[in-house]
Amino acid sequence: MDLGQQPGGFKEPPDLMKEIGIDMDEIQRRMDFIGLTQNDIKMLSEMAGFAEKNVAQAVSDFYEHLLSFRETRILLKNQGAIDRLIASQKAYLIEVFQGRFDKAYFERRLRTGAVHHRIGLEPKWYMEIYAFYENSLSSLIAVAYHHEPDRGLARDQALRKIFRIDMALALEYYFYSRSLEMSKKLESNVQGVDDFTRMLSHDLKEPLRGIEAFSSFLLEDYASLLDNQGKRYLNYLKESATRMKELIHDLMTLVSITGKGQHLDQVDLNDLLEQVKQDLEFAIQQKNVVLLIHDPLPVVHCDAIQITEVFKNLISNAIKFNTATPPCVEIVAKEEDDLHLIAIKDNGIGIDAVYQKQILLPFERLHHRGEYEGTGVGLAICKKVIETSGGEIWLESKVGVGSTFYFTLPKTRRF
Ligand code: ADP
Repeated sequence: MDLGQQPGGFKEPPDLMKEIGIDMDEIQRRMDFIGLTQNDIKMLSEMAGFAEKNVAQAVSDFYEHLLSFRETRILLKNQGAIDRLIASQKAYLIEVFQGRFDKAYFERRLRTGAVHHRIGLEPKWYMEIYAFYENSLSSLIAVAYHHEPDRGLARDQALRKIFRIDMALALEYYFYSRSLEMSKKLESNVQGVDDFTRMLSHDLKEPLRGIEAFSSFLLEDYASLLDNQGKRYLNYLKESATRMKELIHDLMTLVSITGKGQHLDQVDLNDLLEQVKQDLEFAIQQKNVVLLIHDPLPVVHCDAIQITEVFKNLISNAIKFNTATPPCVEIVAKEEDDLHLIAIKDNGIGIDAVYQKQILLPFERLHHRGEYEGTGVGLAICKKVIETSGGEIWLESKVGVGSTFYFTLPKTRRF
């Protein structure tokens, strides 16, 4: 039902049906499902006389009814809105009784949903408005067809069927508009946070560089004036500044991962892993790591740089948090219906079940920096990359036995 819509005066947005992925075949399926037959349509189209006599009455009763509710009274505070409401309601009901259910007709039903969303009328009103018309038109049909109650009933039922189809369309577009609005808000919030983080990191780096540089100068040129305690403090100062810079760098990496920024390609994971192995060569050699890649890995539709980062983080963790001799890292890929499943298994120190979820969040670490180097952002980066790629990441682990990190990547991207 249109409330406050100017008949003919509303600038029609192009092809709303296409926008939400509904075509006339789908409408036909809905009609079949609800049992709206050609005969029903014919019956409705033969009710022009009934419409002429009764539509004005039905709409005027409807208007009176609306005035008994605070929310709708507010929307109908000026004569212009009332006139538009009455005109659009009449036009709608007359259309129904013309029985010309073509694309333009259903477009108008979707547009009703758009208008309701725009004026902030909640979906519960659809139910109430349609319920009102069903009841009032039902009584009017019963009176008009009192000599032929069966014919009246058949027409009453046909009317209810088309009303249901119309109501569903209006509701669908209402929720579509609402989800668009929400994702726009979300996007702008995310953008706001991103901008803020970028600004913060830029502004923080400047004084940090100063602290780092001047503590280095002090250590180099004035060390002889300090006792051991003083030198230790100065070293802490310098290390803290360096660590802060690393944290800012990792935080920025995390913030810069977005679905939009992805460059998708067909990526051969075997080549990608060769690169990762080269990048981690020092750690692999130093700890005599056994790195096993079971079977050839698949070619995956993904952002090569981001997925390289995921492998690098997971493999370097598997090596870092590992005291076994030799440390062993295995990589297995499996194809499932519509996704690739990749597992990275180690024989490292393992992670207590209590912490297994939280370590995927930024800055969550289970160890002191003196024990294991790191900022605690690596797994959060992996999680963000995988989730923005449409996959999932999780882990299984046992303290003293080892951990397996799993992630999935969809074979085709749905967004
Ligand atoms: P970082 O490695 O910089 O500390 P991560 O986000 O990569 O940060 O990891 C977070 C924490 O999760 C680590 O500090 C460590 O406690 C734990 N962790 C990650 N990977 C493993 C692993 N393979 N085995 C044991 N612990 C791990």
